[in-house]
Amino acid sequence: MQVIYGGTFDPVHHGHLRLAVELKEQLGVATIRLVPAYVPPHRDEPGATPEQRLRLLELAIAGEPGLVLDDREVRREGASYTTDTLRQLRNAMGSDEPLAMVVGTDAFAAFDRWRDWDQIPELAHIVVVERPGDPLDPEGVPARLLAERRVEHPSELRHTPAGRALILAPPLLDISATGIRDRIAGDRSPRYLFPDAVWDEIRRLGLYGCPPGRR
Ligand code: ATP
Repeated sequence: MQVIYGGTFDPVHHGHLRLAVELKEQLGVATIRLVPAYVPPHRDEPGATPEQRLRLLELAIAGEPGLVLDDREVRREGASYTTDTLRQLRNAMGSDEPLAMVVGTDAFAAFDRWRDWDQIPELAHIVVVERPGDPLDPEGVPARLLAERRVEHPSELRHTPAGRALILAPPLLDISATGIRDRIAGDRSPRYLFPDAVWDEIRRLGLYGCPPGRR
């Protein structure tokens, strides 16, 4: 089974990395594919380009064979639609192997506004990660889709290539990329929220408003 976990990763942090490891273990797969979205760089804002976000991810997962960087959305450029990514993967994998996409309840709440969302269950399973404070509206389309397709155990995702939904509630670290960017811009330390290699590279490149050479 292939599993994709997408996001902006601006920058990647230990919340993302721990979740990926928990998912790998709970789903019983050898690898989780991290798929950073292509987001065009804002011209006047200090930030990271898609290539720089890729580089930070690469440094963060170096030496961890269970986490794999998938740069297809950055290479594709333009808006990153999950359905396009799943289609590409499905074409490469063939129709039989199970494929799953991971999504937090925050993003899944708007699932029926994603481009071609109704094709997603034909392409992949959906693994919904519960995030505290983001309950689903029980009357909404996403909650109903979950109820119709829900399985209780990860092993059931192996019975079919796509079309099932699983809810997981792994432990989550209270870390956000926004909090990290705010700390850097406010001259406060983001240390221990992400791997030191990521912080070293941010300082080396002067990302997120960090003056190069800052300690
Ligand atoms: P930002 O603060 O810029 O919105 P973020 O830290 O939430 O960023 P994203 O790149 O938007 O990170 O998130 C990618 C995915 O990771 C999303 O599905 C999101 O729900 C999930 N995620 C973000 N932070 C955490 C965390 N601390 N623990 C587990 N999952 C997280």
